[in-house]
Amino acid sequence: MAPLIENDKTLYPVVVQHAETLQILMMAFADEEALTLTRSTGRAHFYSRSRHALWEKGLTSGNVLAVQDIIPDCDNDSFIYLVTNYNPACHRGTTSCFDQSPAAAPNPLARLQSYIGERLHASADTSYTAQLLQGPLERLLKKIGEEAIEVIVAAATNTQTQGADMVWESADLLYHLSVLLTRTGVTLQSLDQELIRRHE
Ligand code: AMP
Ligand code: ZN
Ligand code: ZN
Ligand code: ZN
Repeated sequence: MAPLIENDKTLYPVVVQHAETLQILMMAFADEEALTLTRSTGRAHFYSRSRHALWEKGLTSGNVLAVQDIIPDCDNDSFIYLVTNYNPACHRGTTSCFDQSPAAAPNPLARLQSYIGERLHASADTSYTAQLLQGPLERLLKKIGEEAIEVIVAAATNTQTQGADMVWESADLLYHLSVLLTRTGVTLQSLDQELIRRHE
């Protein structure tokens, strides 16, 4: 993709993508200065075409985007910012500017894993996830046992709300299992590899 020349300034298209869920979050332009500052600070910088000025994402909204890596395209004139946090990228306050696209929705397990990863070093005073990650392992293991039984009960009990109960309890079980995976350092990639291996 060719860059845009505007008032003698070269502007490179930048796609912002989540590093773990691969969700596409937003699209903007960056000049050389914005790319350099993004690289040196680890925060997403762009060039605002409406304000004709350097734009550090989140400076007014607080929704800073943490950039882990800048990936160039085939001929080095458009880029992907790979971000690791989940601040809303859109000025409307939504995660993605492209949330009308079904393809913009991330893999739900990957998103869950990414939210949980953000809580690894969070304060356990305010975050239940941080408590499960940092507290006694026993408590988390007991919780997984309970949630598994609740899924079984929901599946086995024929009620009017069975569908909703199954969604609720399965979400509980997947959430607690995801916390355990994070806590024990098991990645979704390694699970994926194992599942693929079994189908070979
Ligand atoms: P922020 O960079 O989040 O502090 O927002 C500053 C200003 O940048 C907002 O008032 C919007 O005008 C604009 N803006 C923020 N996010 C986006 C986006 N994803 N796409 C286009 N404009 C944006
Ligand atoms: Zn290109
Ligand atoms: Zn937007
Ligand atoms: Zn439950």
